[in-house]
Amino acid sequence: MNKNELMNKREVDNNVNESLQVYKDLFDKIDLGIANFYVRRTGKSIKSVCFHVINPSFEELLQVESATILGKWFPEKKRNAYDSPFHWLISRLGEPRAEKSKFTHFFNSVNRWCTVEIIPLQTDYYGLILTDETEKVNMDTSIQHQLEVLKRVGEHLHVGGFEYDLLSHTMYWSDEMFTIHELDIGEAPDLEQTLSFYTSADRPKLREALKAGLVDGTPFDLELEIITANGNKKQVRIFAQPIFRHNRLVKLGGGILDITVLYKNQHELNQLNRELERSNKELEEFAYVASHDLQEPIRTISAFTELLVTRLGTNLDDKSQMFVEYILGGTSKIKRMINDLLAYSRVNTSKNPSVVFSTQTALENVLELLRKKIYEHNATVTYSSMPEISFQQSLFERLLMNLIDNGLKYNKSSKPKIHIEALESSGFVTFSVKDNGIGIPEIYKNDVFVIFKRFAGEEVQGSGMGLAIAHRIISKGGGDIWYESTEGEGTTFFFKLPKK
Ligand code: ADP
Repeated sequence: MNKNELMNKREVDNNVNESLQVYKDLFDKIDLGIANFYVRRTGKSIKSVCFHVINPSFEELLQVESATILGKWFPEKKRNAYDSPFHWLISRLGEPRAEKSKFTHFFNSVNRWCTVEIIPLQTDYYGLILTDETEKVNMDTSIQHQLEVLKRVGEHLHVGGFEYDLLSHTMYWSDEMFTIHELDIGEAPDLEQTLSFYTSADRPKLREALKAGLVDGTPFDLELEIITANGNKKQVRIFAQPIFRHNRLVKLGGGILDITVLYKNQHELNQLNRELERSNKELEEFAYVASHDLQEPIRTISAFTELLVTRLGTNLDDKSQMFVEYILGGTSKIKRMINDLLAYSRVNTSKNPSVVFSTQTALENVLELLRKKIYEHNATVTYSSMPEISFQQSLFERLLMNLIDNGLKYNKSSKPKIHIEALESSGFVTFSVKDNGIGIPEIYKNDVFVIFKRFAGEEVQGSGMGLAIAHRIISKGGGDIWYESTEGEGTTFFFKLPKK
């Protein structure tokens, strides 16, 4: 070899060494597990396997050390006989193959999904590549779960999803979209076909919304009517959001909610509400007119009866006197009922504005009006400090008056006691009026607030309207009224009103 040849050879050697080093680095650093192995066989089947080289990723993936496996012959055994991932792998090297083969396996003890690729290199000599697929498999499983959950939710709530791709001009429909449109699941219709499902009255609205959505990404949310492939009318809510990528509008994604049943129910409910409102109004007008107009003839009856008594004077025998008393008793009872009915109907017609007032002052006004009655009943009325609220003061006073009056009326104690309290919490005030009276029997609990319902005898005066009026006042104020009672021990009425 002359000098030139020697220099050339050295250069070639250097190049080869450099390339080898590059491959060696790659071999050491690559995330794939790489190994080469020999097999020994008897006839066709492999009897043992010997690893020739493995890279660090292989060690890491299967949790083995090269020192413990390289150059050793591992006999082929039954698959179940192996517990470590490495031994399991050997059991899978199985039949010698002339072609490349590949399988994916979950290696239990290292908690990893790996793809194993076996490449025949020479006779009884193979290459093996291990790829860690754990993250991808987990991600796929999670996406799969999410899709299944979404599908179930979509089916249950009748929500279909769609996506229009502005780049490929293609439309994607979820299965539920086909169900809503009563179409067989297949290829999604294009934009024009989609629009054709909408009634001629609603189609322009959707066209307009789609145009704005597709041009500058304006989102929309509309309630429209479709006619399905089978000719059924359905009410749907259709909504869409733009999807941008690198500031460029690429997709319009959204959904359709079948609200036919909801819409029908809402429609019926609105109609019922309107009817209820109308009949309530009529009833109110009737109650007002009847109670107002009845006052006059009642007044006439009692006035002329009294005149008759004055005229006849001593000529009235005992029986006639008793009849007159019945007439006057009856008329005063009718008067009371009419007045209370009028008060009841006025609760809702009263247009007095809500004002902020001290409920304590209101209570003191009521006690002043009841002073004589409290004294006659030998009763004690106590109260804690009371806050300000915003409501109609006259209605509030009427409410307190009815409850305190009942506490005095339905009380057989020699020392009636009534205590009024107010408790503030989260924007509401709960008032309570507690007495030590006769209590309300459990059997009346559903009728207590019903108009003209009385459970007391005629010896206690009343019209059966007091609690009905109280209930109406509270409903008007957006509150709640209820009671707790023990027969023979007393009753506490509670009512809750918003503070403002
Ligand atoms: P009225 O007092 O005019 O009969 P209310 O509507 O105020 O009508 O009350 C209805 C019925 O509820 C009364 O007849 C009475 O039987 C019962 N009641 C109301 N308040 C009390 C109370 N504090 N204690 C016992 N019973 C009561």
